[in-house]
Amino acid sequence: MLSLGQKAYKGGQIYSWLYKVRQYDFHQMTDLTKEIRNRLDEDYVFNLLEIENESVSQDGTRKFLFRLSDGNPVETVLIPASMNTGQGGDRATACISVQSGCALGCRFCATGTMGLLRDLTPGEMVGQLLGLRERFGNDAFTNVVMMGMGEPLLNFDNVLKALHIITNKDGLCVSARKVTVSTSGITPGIRKLADLELKSSLAVSLHTAIQEKREQIMPVARSFDLNDLIDAMRYYTRKTKSHITIEYILFKDFNDGMDDVKALTHFLQGLPCKLNIIAYNPVEGLDFTRPTDEEVDAFARKLYQRLPAVMVRKSRGSDVNAACGQLAVQQQKRRK
Ligand code: SAH
Ligand code: SF4
Repeated sequence: MLSLGQKAYKGGQIYSWLYKVRQYDFHQMTDLTKEIRNRLDEDYVFNLLEIENESVSQDGTRKFLFRLSDGNPVETVLIPASMNTGQGGDRATACISVQSGCALGCRFCATGTMGLLRDLTPGEMVGQLLGLRERFGNDAFTNVVMMGMGEPLLNFDNVLKALHIITNKDGLCVSARKVTVSTSGITPGIRKLADLELKSSLAVSLHTAIQEKREQIMPVARSFDLNDLIDAMRYYTRKTKSHITIEYILFKDFNDGMDDVKALTHFLQGLPCKLNIIAYNPVEGLDFTRPTDEEVDAFARKLYQRLPAVMVRKSRGSDVNAACGQLAVQQQKRRK
């Protein structure tokens, strides 16, 4: 608005129209003068994401394919409240993507097999959520997790702007604590995030506390090793006075042994954290095995006595390829 020779507060008015009312037609922004509305309409456009495809899982999880303005696809998952398992009571969770693809190539992750297509803009991250609200109303979700495609801390500035809009009271007004950034362990990003002292939550995808094993499945572990990671996590918890959620995918016969239990409890000793265990969700063509529910429970039981907060999480939406790490698969097939 300043660049148009207008007062800055009018920018705030547009912000409210856009995010609160979801009004995308400048002519309907009735607290702006006709002149400004015409001017805006001539020079600017809102590139809304369009829902191109929607699939509903037997468990109620919905997967959406959005089309970006340059044609790149992005996937978003909505996990409805009543079906939600795990912590925190009734809540619906929107799982959004922060990149199209991912450069980090974790061996168990479908997104990792496609490489990085491009970073998403803040508008494209928020746009996924606006799309859900367009479709299901303002109560579509209560929680937001950046656990779709991509590594948030490698698209740091855009993620930060998106976080601001998502949590701002004149933006999407989602309570910051209910917004989770999930990282594969980009330690400089974790430290940077800590210094900002945001109120949002952090999840770290650990998957094993044995360095050699981690390098086998997560190439990023070679750049940021476990010593560096625990250091960054301690810094984060000290600085923000909050805990971290640790994600641990259980792979049969890979990270489910007694040595893994010991390494994990030793590694997490004294760190304010919650541990989420989730069974590996099989990805076509990738060489890992999913443990049975009983095996997952048995592993969790070994940890209950040693760690304060251990939770077994259910993977959702697998029948529509909406489960963890699966988002890329269908899309690639579609492209072929
Ligand atoms: N890049 C970030 C966030 C996106 S991945 C990260 O790695 O944390 C979101 C979560 O899905 C991560 O915890 C990741 O390890 C997990 N994930 C990826 N593929 C999976 C699979 N096949 N089964 C279960 N979880 C998977
Ligand atoms: Fe990227 Fe996360 Fe998948 Fe690893 S698990 S390839 S970091 S999206």
